[in-house]
Amino acid sequence: MSDALMPTYARAELAFERGQGPYLFDAEGRRYLDFAAGIAVNSLGHAHPHLVSALNGQAEKLWHCSNLYRIPEGERLAERLCAASFAERVFFCNSGAEALECSFKAVRRYHDQQGAPERYRIVTLSGAFHGRTLATLSAAANPKHLEGFAPAVDGFDQVAFDNMNELRAAITPETAAVLIEPVQGEGGIRVASPEYLRALRQVCDEFGLLLVFDEVQCGVGRTGRFFAYEEAGVPPDVMAVAKGLGGGFPVGACLTTAAVGDFMTGGSHGSTFGGNPLAMAVANAVLDVVLADGFLPHVAATAELLHTRLEELVARYPAVLAEVRGAGLLLGLRCQVANTELLDAIRAEGLLAATAGDNVLRLAPPLIIDESHVDEAVEILDRACARLSGSN
Ligand SMILES: *Cc1c(COP(=O)(O)O)cnc(C)c1O
Repeated sequence: MSDALMPTYARAELAFERGQGPYLFDAEGRRYLDFAAGIAVNSLGHAHPHLVSALNGQAEKLWHCSNLYRIPEGERLAERLCAASFAERVFFCNSGAEALECSFKAVRRYHDQQGAPERYRIVTLSGAFHGRTLATLSAAANPKHLEGFAPAVDGFDQVAFDNMNELRAAITPETAAVLIEPVQGEGGIRVASPEYLRALRQVCDEFGLLLVFDEVQCGVGRTGRFFAYEEAGVPPDVMAVAKGLGGGFPVGACLTTAAVGDFMTGGSHGSTFGGNPLAMAVANAVLDVVLADGFLPHVAATAELLHTRLEELVARYPAVLAEVRGAGLLLGLRCQVANTELLDAIRAEGLLAATAGDNVLRLAPPLIIDESHVDEAVEILDRACARLSGSN
């Protein structure tokens, strides 16, 4: 590893040269089935022909022109996102953390413009992850991530996940919003139940709070729905989106209702790179595929198959695996052995995955996988579990 890089990551000793569909290839030509997908980013796998042609086509025309001018591809993408969700206004940025920063600003601005500037505090949930900026770290309040970076940004109050009593007790006259990932990703692939999301919507309406969803990881088809919140039928007022939206090209978006977004008037927010023509062209191409007839039902069917097969593994290897959890193709295997031990074992057999909190092995394959890839992944997991339970 080069000393020229800040040592922020514990990287595997692997470097990939190219990718094709759900596979990655290293310099020696060794093939890996990629069930990490750049941490739920390569939603359509690698080198998807429709995305490659959108990127190349745009690259030859215009990369960047700034938001001093209209960007037609961005207007089209915003309109498509609104048509396919609760949203009526969209702000484009470059990452998940930026989409959340915009969400926090929109929340504060909304109450300020309503004549209640004292309402600025956001209730967040234990086990959350919202990014690595100071505000998003403060929102998630993970002590490990905040270590050495004090003081935290003021304005966030954390309560226990799935505990309505604690949440209600945390609401004060200064509370502005509630922030939740409908499926917690980094925290360990924990799904917020539809009842819980409905109760949150109700409490927000009761107290005049905004409901903010972080769908950076679980959005854009990952759960078999375009957005995860559709499952519960609970629309938010504000939502952060990123990871899967660009299929591997960096892009983020903050989606809001008109009531919230219309207060973000000229000069209130901005981003030099946000909404650039390259990102907009690629994200539109992602939507072409994800919103095409039959695509999301296929994701849901493949996900169900994978879920069932993983349940079988849990039943067969109780010394290695404790449970399956998650939604759609965002699945977690809670481990009895160290999750890193299982990760190393499957990687040695050519299957890539990621870890998550709570000793979970996270599976977030590209949405384009089919039954054959489920078979291949489950066979590798089966072998790895057999080996690990033998040595236990
Ligand atoms: C990855 C992630 C973020 C942060 O996104 P970045 O692009 O790394 O800034 C925020 N929220 C959730 C739920 C995420 O999974």
